[in-house]
Amino acid sequence: MIEPNSELVIDYELVRNNIQVIKTNLPTNCKILGVIKSNAYGHDLEKATQALDDAIDGYGVVRLGEALKIRENSLKPILAMQGVYSSDAYDSLKQNNIWSVVHSISQLPLAKQYQDDLLFWIKVNTGMNRLGIAIDELDQFQSLLKDSNVLMTHLACADHPADDLNNTQFKNFDYAWDRVENDMQRSVLNSAGVFNFPDQAYDWVRPGIAMYGGIAFPGLKTAMTFRSQIISIQSLDQNERIGYGGRVKTSKPSKIAIVYCGYADGFPQTAIDGTSVIVNSHKSKIIGRVSMDLISIDVTEIPDCKIGDWCELWSPDLSILENAKKNNLISYELMTKMSQRVKRQYLNI
Ligand SMILES: *Cc1c(COP(=O)(O)O)cnc(C)c1O
Repeated sequence: MIEPNSELVIDYELVRNNIQVIKTNLPTNCKILGVIKSNAYGHDLEKATQALDDAIDGYGVVRLGEALKIRENSLKPILAMQGVYSSDAYDSLKQNNIWSVVHSISQLPLAKQYQDDLLFWIKVNTGMNRLGIAIDELDQFQSLLKDSNVLMTHLACADHPADDLNNTQFKNFDYAWDRVENDMQRSVLNSAGVFNFPDQAYDWVRPGIAMYGGIAFPGLKTAMTFRSQIISIQSLDQNERIGYGGRVKTSKPSKIAIVYCGYADGFPQTAIDGTSVIVNSHKSKIIGRVSMDLISIDVTEIPDCKIGDWCELWSPDLSILENAKKNNLISYELMTKMSQRVKRQYLNI
């Protein structure tokens, strides 16, 4: 009996290959803080820790809870990138040897209290205006601006290298650095930054999406295969309408395959006609509106297509970016919105 289920196959060998591509773009002494927040962008936090421990120099997450989970499996540095806010949380950082980001003056009293026991990354706002200490407030942080700590910032437009804001941020970061009297380490770059501004790599870079193959750079590959099986095939005449709203009409006699996957699995409901998928190594296209549990695709030109064949929604051979770009979405959102009901499989941990 067939029990169809959408599947997510995550190949950690591909993630490690992507990390290798990142490394070849960086000075050899630059360390990699692999960002595995949001359940490793949908790739499973725990599996990521097991599979990547030898490939990176430390882990970046958002929450303390995520950091503690990593600590169960790894002795590497772990950074809680959105900081902590209570003495209980600081105690927990201390007990588990976890680093945290100080990004706001409101964190200063507690951070100072723990400054001899903990390592901090001090985040300055250089122009993104999201998190970060204003540069003119930095003087109040002098006791935290010491050798063992890291001075960091985050770029708003790393994926648009021509945007002027990048240069403004670099200048402001240099200006902040001039206020530091000690030999702190520095960290500026996320994934896009690694490829667009490798000269700003300093001591640590913080790639996330590039490890999973969610940005376009030669050598990077989507490390997850999202796929499901065809459970029905319709033979239609010209001018027949397909799916909810009948938004599309066949332009010729067509064979339409129905795939056992929908927006409740994490496939974007807003996917437009023409969005690519792969069936039996051939490119096929979405036709008609995506439903909760089903997607219709045009397999008229695909030889021998039959019920039970697999349809890849994205994979190493069909970049997740192709879907994202076509549908005005971002790869980050597609990866992190995969639903619980999708059956997971992990390779090469
Ligand atoms: C999420 C995040 C990153 C990683 O960003 P990518 O674009 O996925 O490489 C790096 N630094 C900080 C502070 C982040 O929040």
